[in-house]
Amino acid sequence: MMYNNLNNLSPEDEEELRQLEGQITELFALLEKSEIQISLLKDENSQLKAQIQKLQQKSRPSQYKSPQVETIKVPKEVIPTIIPADTSLRQNKRKCPNCGAMGFSIKEVDDKTKIICYSPRRIYMKKRVCTKCRFEF
Ligand SMILES: [Zn+2]
Repeated sequence: MMYNNLNNLSPEDEEELRQLEGQITELFALLEKSEIQISLLKDENSQLKAQIQKLQQKSRPSQYKSPQVETIKVPKEVIPTIIPADTSLRQNKRKCPNCGAMGFSIKEVDDKTKIICYSPRRIYMKKRVCTKCRFEF
């Protein structure tokens, strides 16, 4: 359609056509530049992908190791041995031989008449006092 009318264009139309042709060449130049940028970015992208793969291969073994260590440590060391043994020992000790009161009725205090050592600071023997009958043991 357009090409059929090229021969009988008015001067105004010719001027517009030149401007449009100029814009087209500019756009092609831009297109070329952007294509060059795209190819550069593609190269960069493939390089980055390769780096990511390397990093993933490095990080994988350590990521799998650390949770294994933690799951082994938690049940074996912390929960079964220390906490129940400690509380059961304290519960056994904390019983008044006079009235039989247990647990929080028994308070541990320093026995100031029995000094274990003087330096670097004074450490006293511990004694237990029943808060119910004031019995010391
Ligand atoms: Zn008591």
